[in-house]
Amino acid sequence: MPSLQSVISCLSDYDPGALPVAQANQIIGELVEPVRGTEQVALRAALDRVLAEDVISRLDVPAHDNSAMDGYAFASSELAVGGNVALAVVGSAFAGAACEQAVARGQAARIMTGAIMPAGCDTVIPQEFVDVEGELIRFDAKAVRAGDNRRLRGEDLAIGQPALAAGRILQPADLGLLASLGVAEVKVRRRLRVAFFSTGDELRSIGEPLDAGCVYDSNRYTLHGMLRRMNVDLIDMGVVHDDPAALEAALRSACENADAVITSGGVSVGEADYTKQIMAQLGDVTFWKIAMRPGRPMAFGRIASHGHEALLFGLPGNPVAVMVTFYHFVRAALHRQMGAKVAPLPLMRVRSAQAIRKKPGRTEYQRGILAPAPEGGWQVSITGQQGSGVLRSMSEANCFIVLGHEQGMVAAGDEVEVMLFDGLM
Ligand code: AMP
Ligand code: MG
Repeated sequence: MPSLQSVISCLSDYDPGALPVAQANQIIGELVEPVRGTEQVALRAALDRVLAEDVISRLDVPAHDNSAMDGYAFASSELAVGGNVALAVVGSAFAGAACEQAVARGQAARIMTGAIMPAGCDTVIPQEFVDVEGELIRFDAKAVRAGDNRRLRGEDLAIGQPALAAGRILQPADLGLLASLGVAEVKVRRRLRVAFFSTGDELRSIGEPLDAGCVYDSNRYTLHGMLRRMNVDLIDMGVVHDDPAALEAALRSACENADAVITSGGVSVGEADYTKQIMAQLGDVTFWKIAMRPGRPMAFGRIASHGHEALLFGLPGNPVAVMVTFYHFVRAALHRQMGAKVAPLPLMRVRSAQAIRKKPGRTEYQRGILAPAPEGGWQVSITGQQGSGVLRSMSEANCFIVLGHEQGMVAAGDEVEVMLFDGLM
């Protein structure tokens, strides 16, 4: 595993006092390694877990050519004459069973959706296009083309094909796909354990009286929510006071019990001094001022206690900054640590309904509402007050408006990039 120093020394223009978002993510990415443990779990329990190995199909799915419709199966050579086709019905095929009767020239077999195509047949005419006269069917040759309404053996998955790749976070469709292959259990990475706590003498827990100048600790709840959505095991360590001994004890305990430790508060200028000392004492930690808004101060590194190592994310205290830094740094790092390969979330360009103030030289994550525009298409507007303490801005938003490092002022009608919360949260 490389050290922070060695990763940082490879960067030509490293400035911890104004670190671009992309560079911070690059450093984090190089330092995070996937946990090694795996376990075998039953298919249903594998939802949202990370697949630990490729799954190769041992079956053709479907196993036979079969019908996609209720109708009549026949050989497409019957269509060559054109006009009105008349065929004698000689047998029937139901789902799960083959037609026992051979289908010869001038003949067809009644067939149901999913039934195996009778030998000699390659096309199905849906029943609604057919006139039935006793044992005879008639239809217009133009109503169907050769090969229509037939599903081919292995068209979903062929034997030997990779069905799912290691690193995939299993979705509902994946469970169904694995079931269609007859797979009852899969090997997944062990669940990640994440410890988190809030720091600050001004913080009160729900249920305690709110003394003058105090606030309820909300970060632990948003962190709980964001981490739950990532399907990790949570260790909620409560509020830790601004006291060096308490902070050291909490960090040690967190790192002895978890793969990653997330703290909020205590990393801003003025507060950082003893936090810095303690974190540095426990491992390889660096303090950044990131060129972003909200979320400027952040600590990142690895800490160790009694032979146990953990990743450390010291997030800022402001409630919106916690969420923004979580989604834009911690989320990808945890995915990497849990062995998941996750594509970056798409950024979409839409018109801004209003002017937005923005200075080049930092990335901003404004909270936006994406909605249909009166003139058609979509537009985005900001959710009022954008202060980093205004959690309502996150609650009302359905997307981040991502204003890139170089971006300057935005005029009403300009296109901006948005990242939808769907799929993120
Ligand atoms: P700090 O980074 O510790 O200086 O905190 C910055 C601001 O965020 C202060 O106004 C804190 O009161 C507030 N804050 C810190 N932690 C929390 C928390 N867990 N819940 C709500 N607000 C917090
Ligand atoms: Mg504080």
